[in-house]
Amino acid sequence: MSTCICSCGESAPHEVARRTTFDGQTVCLWSDGTLTAIMGLYVAGIGRKRLPMERLWEIANEAALMTMDEVVEQFQIHHAIERRLQRRARRHEACKEIVA
Ligand SMILES: [Zn+2]
Repeated sequence: MSTCICSCGESAPHEVARRTTFDGQTVCLWSDGTLTAIMGLYVAGIGRKRLPMERLWEIANEAALMTMDEVVEQFQIHHAIERRLQRRARRHEACKEIVA
């Protein structure tokens, strides 16, 4: 998740999309998987956390129907799921080492 090159070919983090929430706030999606407010300002409850782009797009697609608080909540849910999946993947790696 740390090294992600955008489909446009640019490897440095850059804004890829911008959406307006139901309550009129702007959210920006970044190529490194972060979600910020306008001008790249971190959002309380999200901070520097990252998500895989496909999860960020899911949030972006619904952003117009959600308030900013709900966007933050969705991000946190996706982030928790992602952490759980990664933890499980690591456990399976450990199993392979034991078997090998
Ligand atoms: Zn790009």
